[in-house]
Amino acid sequence: MTIDRRRLPCITPPYILQSLLESDDAEIRRAALATLVSTAQLRGQREVRSLLAGVAAAPVSGRRTIFDCRTGIILRFATIARTEGDEAVADDSVNRAYDGFGLTRQFLKDVFERDSIDGRGMRLHGYVHRGLRYNNAFWDGSEMVFGDGDGRVFSDFTGSLDVIAHELAHGVTEFTSGWEYHDQTGALNESMSDVFGSMVKQWALKQSAADADWLIGADVFTPGIEADALRSLKAPGTAFDNELFGKDPQPAHMNDFVELPDTEEGDFGGVHINSGIPNKAFHLVATAIGGNSWDAAGHIWYEALKDSTPLTQFADFAAATHRRAGELCGAGSAEQQAVADAWDAVGVAVSVPAAARGNGNGSIASLSQQLESLTGQVQALAADVQALAGRR
Ligand SMILES: [Zn+2]
Repeated sequence: MTIDRRRLPCITPPYILQSLLESDDAEIRRAALATLVSTAQLRGQREVRSLLAGVAAAPVSGRRTIFDCRTGIILRFATIARTEGDEAVADDSVNRAYDGFGLTRQFLKDVFERDSIDGRGMRLHGYVHRGLRYNNAFWDGSEMVFGDGDGRVFSDFTGSLDVIAHELAHGVTEFTSGWEYHDQTGALNESMSDVFGSMVKQWALKQSAADADWLIGADVFTPGIEADALRSLKAPGTAFDNELFGKDPQPAHMNDFVELPDTEEGDFGGVHINSGIPNKAFHLVATAIGGNSWDAAGHIWYEALKDSTPLTQFADFAAATHRRAGELCGAGSAEQQAVADAWDAVGVAVSVPAAARGNGNGSIASLSQQLESLTGQVQALAADVQALAGRR
């Protein structure tokens, strides 16, 4: 609701597609170009669609519907392939999206007592086989859309559960902090989706933080491509290194923060690049605390997400996680220390407000933060209503 509608949170960073434009292989070049152009066109559609989303039918506990675009790009022409309670169908992409939605929905409910992505049972709509050789997956403000990949570099985007959970988490973020999709707030938006993507995958595989691979999109590349994944939370900057699209540009420390223009070519200020910094912080916290990422570390991150506003920057978010760790696990606890150490390790200074420093007044700071967050949400809502009124 509060997200900037001109931007489209998607999984494949533009710098990979831009590198593919220089490939010697014409087919790879064509698929990359088509994906870039198509993503740019969608941004315009999104603005109109999200204004219409408010008049959708009443939600029913995250009821799933998977649509088949049959390589078309106009979503309303897609046909229903599988709805809640239906048996599996012959199409694996449909079944993977259906199952991925189900697992993510169950994770939100069991771990965070959250009813679907908006917390109010929002229906989950997924579109598969979107476009011909489309190298991306995205959340468009009301539904998740997956391309089949070009079959040369990228394969079907429903293949990685973490990619599906990543897209759904953009919905969660949109309905909570509403982080603006550019620069540090955009990097936090991307990072939160990678964090949720990792947690859902680890939860489904029953993997501890120590045992997990912490990779995002390990299955999006075709077997012939030399790349582990799109990103690594454990070791940002190491997910890929090949001749076709270069080396993973993610930093893991503020010293290496990448300054880029707030344009599509600049990845809106490096939202898929600088997300490596908060990603690494979460990995450090989860592994330092031990056990499962979705227990202490996940709850600390989730509460801090709810404290955040569309403009919350790295340092503010770090402070929120530190404060929440104190509330959830105890002031001066090992968990709170792990949070402080993690942000220190990635070069983000935790600015702890005076009121929250060890004198039992942490809840006041937290309340004022929540009030600030609510105010931001009300303002955004008012803007939405105004925009809607203007269109009638
Ligand atoms: Zn994303």
